[in-house]
Amino acid sequence: MPQALSEIPIQFIKSVGPSKAKLLANLGVSSVEDLLYLFPHRYEDRSTFTPIAMLQAGLPQTACGRIVLARRNYYSKNKAVEITVKDTSGIIHCVWFNQPYLINIFKPGQEIVLYGKVDIFKKRLQMTVPDFELIAKEDRSLNMGRIVPVYPLTRGINQRYLRKLMDACLGLYADRLQDIVPQAIRSKQRLNPIAQSIRQIHFPSDDAQKQKGIDRIAFEEFFLFQICVILRRLSIVNKTGVAHQLSPTLIEHYKAALPFALTGAQTKAIHDIAADMAKTRPMLRMVQGDVGCGKTVAAFFGCMAAWKNNKQSALMAPTEILAQQHFFNFQKLFVPGPFEAIKAALLISSTPAKDKKTLYQELERGKIDLVIGTHALLEETIAFKNLSFVVIDEQHKFGVNQRALLSAKGTNPDILIMTATPIPRTLCLTLYGDLDVSVIDEMPPGRGKIKTYRFPLAKAPSVYQKVRELVLQGAQAYIIYPLVDESEKLDLKAAKDQFVHLQKFEFQGLRLGLVHGRMKREETDEIMEKFKKHELDILVATTILEVGIDIPNANVMLIEHAERFGLSQLHQLRGRIGRGAQDAVCVLLGDPVTQEAAMRLDAIAQTTDGFRIAEEDLKIRGPGHYFGRHQHGLNELKMSNPVTQIEILEKAREDAVILTKNDPQLNGMEHRLIKETIKKRYPQYLDLILAG
Ligand code: ADP
Ligand code: MG
Repeated sequence: MPQALSEIPIQFIKSVGPSKAKLLANLGVSSVEDLLYLFPHRYEDRSTFTPIAMLQAGLPQTACGRIVLARRNYYSKNKAVEITVKDTSGIIHCVWFNQPYLINIFKPGQEIVLYGKVDIFKKRLQMTVPDFELIAKEDRSLNMGRIVPVYPLTRGINQRYLRKLMDACLGLYADRLQDIVPQAIRSKQRLNPIAQSIRQIHFPSDDAQKQKGIDRIAFEEFFLFQICVILRRLSIVNKTGVAHQLSPTLIEHYKAALPFALTGAQTKAIHDIAADMAKTRPMLRMVQGDVGCGKTVAAFFGCMAAWKNNKQSALMAPTEILAQQHFFNFQKLFVPGPFEAIKAALLISSTPAKDKKTLYQELERGKIDLVIGTHALLEETIAFKNLSFVVIDEQHKFGVNQRALLSAKGTNPDILIMTATPIPRTLCLTLYGDLDVSVIDEMPPGRGKIKTYRFPLAKAPSVYQKVRELVLQGAQAYIIYPLVDESEKLDLKAAKDQFVHLQKFEFQGLRLGLVHGRMKREETDEIMEKFKKHELDILVATTILEVGIDIPNANVMLIEHAERFGLSQLHQLRGRIGRGAQDAVCVLLGDPVTQEAAMRLDAIAQTTDGFRIAEEDLKIRGPGHYFGRHQHGLNELKMSNPVTQIEILEKAREDAVILTKNDPQLNGMEHRLIKETIKKRYPQYLDLILAG
């Protein structure tokens, strides 16, 4: 057996010494296999170049020519280095700032490739700070006259070096790449051999071949990911759980006990939950819906059903304030009433030690029917008598492991996950293919509308004035900043300084509070509590405010530097208001400089539909960024995008379903490689599956 490529250190390759090996490690490359799986983040078609005279202003483009002049601009305070580049059609100027050493690199006569946005500056074509590559004669074959890969770089590693190294490694090792996808599936899906695909991804012979290569890798990525997702599901639903007895009239009783009528979407979700709970196999369901749509009310039905079966339930929320909110909401809804006899308790880290102890005992003896709490519920010492229903709020704030920890406290309890992050169907399938989904896409009636306005930052004074008026009429307001502290690099207003400033000037005499992510949890909880009790008029905050807070009287929101926020972030922030019967106002202050930022602000101003915003966001940013970096394995999807490659995703899922059905342990000859690769790429999932 030849050595596996993952076992061959990259330093083994001739042009890689110890220092280059260290630099390559920054790119996540330590073996030959890592290198071959280091994919370009874009390509440049250098088979033909646009003549310089034909370049269009306003667009990023590639140009090529010879340097005719290179000079320092002594008059510029930024130490500019300027060059003039000429081809047979015309000339273009390029400028770089604060990199004086560049003057030693640019030599007249040299061939140079430039990539960047073209502008018209002083009536001349100009690229400001373009990417560039100087091309030596001997380098032409890899770097010119073809579609050229452009890789992510790290200091000390340039494109030409990487291309040369890649070319060498492909030549030596590509044929030894192992196909992770079993032969039968490869022929059924007409996938090219892995070696050919990887070669085409790095040095495509044409666009069609390149795309085939990318699709091939996308299939592989989806396939592995889906296997994980499916096995995760099997690790739960293949067990024997509690088949709750639900009388046919139970839902009607529940409805009758509520002080309001359920929305259609809530009723549908409750029916889904009831049907799942009645089955022996454990429920694994997610309820999705914007904040305030009434997910928790649907979840309480499950708690009630468990209680009717003499079982316990637990609801875990990511912050104390949310846990408290759920707890008080529960009491508000059901006490007094037919479900008053459900003994509910709140358990958070600030619960006094003495009370905790009693609580633990009562939980263990089954004296408490429903416990609502935070991470505090995961304490090892906590045991239940018979936990049969688990609710996890804002699931993406927890790891998959934490969900497992809580459910391990029961005997295969039913699990309900709630999320206010709208997840488009395609992404949902990728991430949560292991969950059944109920969507609540309807808001309870009688809520005010949210009006969203956009202004340039310069309008801040008159906007503050307006906010002041609204507050004096009894409203409460949020003012949101992108940063906690002022930063030297970015000329942005920041929460801390603005808090001091606003209190002293624009909002003098009003009661302001400040919360941000660098404060202790207890401090922010305390301030939030005050705001909730209307002991504060204005809350200055950072995005810490994103999650689930329900303060109906707060119906004014001002977001400064709105262009700095992601689309979903803006949506989540805005979701804090419009919770009461009155109309709410959201003002976005900002001066977008990029087209992307302008698109985000347009989108948010045009709609309040979370799903549309999520789709838009995914298009703009790609899925890896949608949820932040951790937990999901989405970062491992390098060549695949569940939004644009949905057909490939669905095919891969189909095959993953068949494969896991036939060999859930992945012990088959061809499946061991899959298992090993999953171990390497998605270790956290494999642990979970094997543990489960
Ligand atoms: P979510 O968990 O989706 O954020 P909640 O279930 O906490 O929403 O509900 C938000 C608020 O709206 C709560 O005060 C709740 O009592 C109330 N509510 C829920 N459903 C309805 C409804 N159908 N009609 C009126 N008010 C409702
Ligand atoms: Mg909620």
